Order: sequence, then structure tokens, then C-alpha cells
Amino acid sequence: MMKFVIAQLPTVLIMSANSQIYEGKAKILYTTDEEEIFLAYFKDDATAFNAQKRGSIVGKGEINCQISSVLFQQLEALGIRTHFIDSPNPNQMRVKAVKILPLEVVVRNIAAGSLCLQTGLSLGTVLQPPLVEFYYKNDALGDPLLTRDRLLLLELARTEQIEEIKLLALQINEFLSVFFRDCGITLVDFKLEFGVDSQQQILLADEISPDTCRFWNSADTDPNSRVMDKDRFRRDLGDVEQAYQQVLERVLTKVNSKK
Ligand code: C5P
Repeated sequence: MMKFVIAQLPTVLIMSANSQIYEGKAKILYTTDEEEIFLAYFKDDATAFNAQKRGSIVGKGEINCQISSVLFQQLEALGIRTHFIDSPNPNQMRVKAVKILPLEVVVRNIAAGSLCLQTGLSLGTVLQPPLVEFYYKNDALGDPLLTRDRLLLLELARTEQIEEIKLLALQINEFLSVFFRDCGITLVDFKLEFGVDSQQQILLADEISPDTCRFWNSADTDPNSRVMDKDRFRRDLGDVEQAYQQVLERVLTKVNSKK
């Protein structure tokens, strides 16, 4: 197979990249020479409110890919299966070719965002036990919140898969909450996606990054300046790049301190 430069990546030579199979809001997925492996390219493009707001966060692709790579490796070490293989370049991740379930699994430790809007709970309310929610990953429908019965009705996952995913989401939350607490960051909530491999095993997929998590600087109580995630972009708080970079630096400091 010939190696070639892909148009969207002027400075980067993608090793053995074949055809584009999917372009999402934050990533492009390519096939590779190996049938079981895809290459994910993380973009700087930023969207919010179901793509009604669009922009770009300089360096975001590299930052999100690096943060996700570290976290996937940490989770693998705990025995949680992920799609991560390796990261050949800072904004590229080789991943196992899984079939993504059309679900957005949100875990919430503290009330924020849509939970406050839809329930009237005050911002900052501690949720104990953490809340696990399933949303239908469907842009045309606006990613609606699912009930368990709707999930089964639409055959988005089987009963035992729902149970396994909920358990995994809570285990991942336990690890991430402590990991980020050690970074001086409060993990407010986050979204996960899961895929199924050729052996029908469920794997954690997608990414874990400031695009998909709410991070508050633990040392700060100001509702605006504490924000270290995509809410800076959503709410026009400024210094978006700096916040993402700060999360990466703290994550790298934490993992390097353990070595
Ligand atoms: O908007 P909402 O409060 O429901 O978001 C909960 C969490 O899920 C936030 O961390 C948000 O960044 C993440 N999320 C996401 N992708 C979506 C919807 C929410 O990463 N499509």
C-alpha cells in the first residue's frame, strides 16, 4: 500500500492511512492496511450546542489526543479494555476497529450543564451516588436523553450490555475522579462512548478530554475562572487554549511523577 499525504493534514504524513471512513465534529477516522486497526486524527475544530456554534481551538487536536492516550493507557493498566493501541503522532491515535454503539454515556459527580437546565438542580450540587445517563447519539434528533425502556425499544444495546456499560462507566469514574483530584482538578461530569469488537467485547472508545469532560480548577471557586474545559468555548469565557494546555500539563506532570 502506498503511503501518501492526506489533504487535511498538510504537515503530517500519515503512515499507511487508507480511506476516510468517518468524519465527526472533532475527529476523522481512517482505515489502515490492517483491517482491525483504524487511525483517528484529532481536529482543532470545535463545535457546541449540536454544531450550532462552530470555531477552532488552536492545538486542541494534539492536546486531546495526548490526554486521551494517557488516560486510556492508565485505564488499560487497571484492566479496563479500551480501543487505544498507540499514538504515532501527537494528534493521531491508532485504535482497534470497533463498531461504535450509538450511545453517549454521561457520568455526573456534580450537577452542571443540561442536568441543571432540565431538573432545576443548583449548579454545584454534589451527586452521591454519581448519576449515569444514556443519551441517543443522533445529531438529527439532538442527542435526546434515553430511558432504559427506550434504549431497549430502539435496540441500541442489549440488557446485559447496558449493565456492563453502567458498571464500566462507574469504574472509570472512580479512577478518573481520583486521578484528576491529584491534578488539582475536580471532575464534574464527562461523556463516554463504547464500541463492540469482532469478539463482541465492549471496549471504551472515542476520547476523554476537555472536549468531553467538565473540569473545574479545585483551587478556584469562581464559577467562570475555575472552568478548564469546553465550557470556556461554549460560554465565551476566553483563554480556551490556555485551559486545555493547563489540563495536559497537569496530566503529564501527574503521570511522570509516578515513573
Ligand atoms: O451538556 P451536558 O451537561 O449534558 O454534558 C454533560 C457532559 O457530557 C459534559 O462534560 C459535556 O462536555 C459532555 N458531552 C459531550 N458530548 C456531547 C454532550 C455532552 O462530550 N454530545
